[in-house]
Amino acid sequence: MLEGEWKLAIGGDWQPARSGALMPVESPVSGEVIAEVPDAGPDDALAALSRAWAVQRDWAASSSWARADVLRSVHTLIEKQADRLAALIHFETGKPMVEAEAEVSYGADFVHWYADLAPQISGRYRVAPRGGSRLITMPQPVGPCLLICPWNLPFALAARKVAPAIAAGCTFVLKPAEQTPLATLAFVELLQQAGLPAGVASVVTTSDPAGAVAPLVADDRVRKLSFTGSTAIGKKLLGLAAAGVKRTSMELGGNAPLIVFADCDLDHAIEQTVVAKLRNAGQSCIAANRIYVEEPIMSVFTEGLVERFAQVRAEPGGDLGPMIDARARDGVEALIGSAVQSGGRALIGGRRGDGSGYFVEPTLLADVSPDAPLVSSEIFGPAAAIVGFTDERDVVGLANGIAGGLAGYVFSQDVDRVLRVADRLDVGMVGINRGVVSHVAAPFGGVKESGLGREGAEEGLLEYQELKYVVIDGDVSSPAMATA
Ligand code: NAP
Repeated sequence: MLEGEWKLAIGGDWQPARSGALMPVESPVSGEVIAEVPDAGPDDALAALSRAWAVQRDWAASSSWARADVLRSVHTLIEKQADRLAALIHFETGKPMVEAEAEVSYGADFVHWYADLAPQISGRYRVAPRGGSRLITMPQPVGPCLLICPWNLPFALAARKVAPAIAAGCTFVLKPAEQTPLATLAFVELLQQAGLPAGVASVVTTSDPAGAVAPLVADDRVRKLSFTGSTAIGKKLLGLAAAGVKRTSMELGGNAPLIVFADCDLDHAIEQTVVAKLRNAGQSCIAANRIYVEEPIMSVFTEGLVERFAQVRAEPGGDLGPMIDARARDGVEALIGSAVQSGGRALIGGRRGDGSGYFVEPTLLADVSPDAPLVSSEIFGPAAAIVGFTDERDVVGLANGIAGGLAGYVFSQDVDRVLRVADRLDVGMVGINRGVVSHVAAPFGGVKESGLGREGAEEGLLEYQELKYVVIDGDVSSPAMATA
């Protein structure tokens, strides 16, 4: 067990759940319970919202320099406490320390970035084209937000919501995933140490997300729902939010195509495909799920990729972390099993890891039916189908033939081709000759069933703002002109 007593952060106060209930946090590496955190109910969640509501007006009226100062202090604290944060992420997700450290650094970037953007929030002044009126736009904070996060990057994806919410002047109630509450609670502790006014931030940990969260989504005081998670739950929440016509941001599931043309830099493409597939053990919304390779290099590329997969150890202390829990591991195994039943062949892997924990071996499958769920749905694990192609149009059609569209990857040295294919892919983000697209200064998000809105960059701040426009009639001629 990790040392320490974990409590709910209700608007600046640390408290147990009103019911006194606790829920276990398990290590995906050993299956052992490593901590217990409060198991909040709807009354705890509503108490957090009441605190957020009570301070929203004052927080919105705070100066943008004051909010930037808080974010800057948070950034300094994150850097000082990076080892502790990384250790918590490592323990609760099971990901290797090197990946946990990379997550802390990625999350810290959002705090840094939005500290800089807060004072740049500005409106527009315009004279009506027919004259006679001045038109002014005023960005305003959207109001109290409900922020719901997944377990795969518990710190970074919370920071990607929290930092722009603070920069914009919004209060919030944050709900981390049941499996990974620890790094989030530690993050909110840092927000408080940095001087965030009491009430602005709350964290509610719960084993009953539907029960605890539904009353918040239904509450008029919540003005915005920002959700990162599966498309299935996102659709449910959109339905609930529609009843109150709430602003929503939806960062949902992916099923990324990775397209390798014969004129690519082969070794680089193989290396980047390993990154695109195996980062976070494939538990990434932008993970490459379908690998399409142009026929002339299909066999040499496949051989190279199998060789690289063979070097990756999926075991405690290895390079590849476990699936988050037994259910996730069983789900990936089931996808592999049904792909094999549909005629697929495992070129490598295909089995769970030996010993404790929820490990799955890096797995590459050939001859998988295009209708197999391994191809048509998000895998969220270290497995992928590899498929040959001969025609650019056909492969773009295959890549686009799914319900979602988050990320896609293209490997080729032909500039015209990579831009043409990037243009035609139905996705929100394209990596060209690289296996990662995430960047603090770029708008992250998807099209179709992969979501609504963007996180990161300037666009991520707009998600937490309403735009009010003010018109005022008057003589708009300039003094110089008037006296001419
Ligand atoms: P999930 O099952 O949809 O859960 C996401 C969050 O929603 C968790 O905090 C979960 O709480 C909560 N939740 C579940 N049911 C709920 C309900 N009825 N009402 C309110 N909240 C509810 O997703 P996940 O398994 O954690 O994450 C994996 C998915 O997230 C993948 O599909 C992945 O692609 C997607 N994702 C997308 C992005 C992106 O930026 N587009 C980034 C990362 C992940 P509990 O943990 O208690 O169930």
